[in-house]
Amino acid sequence: MRWENLTENPAEIPTGRVTDAALFGADTVTTRTFDTPEFAGVTFHEIRARSIVNRVPGASRMPFEWTVNPYRGCTHACVYCFARKTHSYLDLDTGLGFDSQIVVKVNAPELLRRHLASRRWHGEHIAMGTNVDCYQRAEGRYRLMPGIIEALRDYANPFSILTKGTLILRDLDLLRQAAEVTDVGVSVSVGFVDRELWRTVEPGTPAPERRLDVVRALGEAGIGCGVLMAPVIPFLGDHPVQLRETVRAVAAAGATSVTPLVLHLRPGAREWFMSWLGQHHPHLVRRYERLYAEGAYAPKWYQRRITRQVHELAEEFGIGPSRAEAPRRLRARQEPEPASAATQLTLL
Ligand code: SF4
Repeated sequence: MRWENLTENPAEIPTGRVTDAALFGADTVTTRTFDTPEFAGVTFHEIRARSIVNRVPGASRMPFEWTVNPYRGCTHACVYCFARKTHSYLDLDTGLGFDSQIVVKVNAPELLRRHLASRRWHGEHIAMGTNVDCYQRAEGRYRLMPGIIEALRDYANPFSILTKGTLILRDLDLLRQAAEVTDVGVSVSVGFVDRELWRTVEPGTPAPERRLDVVRALGEAGIGCGVLMAPVIPFLGDHPVQLRETVRAVAAAGATSVTPLVLHLRPGAREWFMSWLGQHHPHLVRRYERLYAEGAYAPKWYQRRITRQVHELAEEFGIGPSRAEAPRRLRARQEPEPASAATQLTLL
């Protein structure tokens, strides 16, 4: 396993560090397994990371610049997961290894708090859940997110979370406290509500309807929640009836928005997904090879078609900020201060 000379992701450079800096040293790795059914077959590699806030290069397609990822690997085990490739940087397997060899940055909360306190940090938005799910099952045991949210709350630092995990509801009070002092965005990923497809392609995730319960609960708590309808899976989850059922369910959950994203198959994910496709839907292999002949992304015409269909359905079902009760948003002043200085905040 290659622990040295590691950056978080070639697309994400740790801040304040040269590119060949190690996030952690081999001497700091503790490997554990837990004798519970929930973690059967899963190995955890606990590390003390050297940095936690990562910069996304400007050339990236991502709409955010800074990220925090307390975990590497994900037991949600989505067959299509684009983060699989990142496991190869550790010389770990990008297939089953990604699903079962989980790196845990046990000092993530203290590192983040230190980073937020730095004079060099200017309170930029931090995105989480952008590489792997920060509310995957491991979080139930390691409980890193409460400390992370507390730090962000205390420094009134805006942030967003994208997740497929229902565990986020454990931290609802903290999210509510943070939303009192800064911008908090939460999105839940639900690409489809087809249970058969879910069982095979996202075997470690909570069921789509449980995720939509999260959307509902967050909305009821005053934290507006959007749905990233991702991925829309060609020929398996893109039938107009499936799109309609999904958008209908998203609307019923009170989502503030729905954003479709067609499956993309980057190296690492592509091999694993195509192998799964060959086992479960062999008749589709040729169609996929043609659809993804140009690379990792489906053709523009296909993406546009899905986007148009979903937007039309969203309009039909009335999804949008005006429909759901708007979350209370407070804007913090420039200098990060503890949240208790609420009198200095401005209601948007
Ligand atoms: S939940 Fe997200 S990070 Fe985890 S396996 Fe699925 S797509 Fe990957």
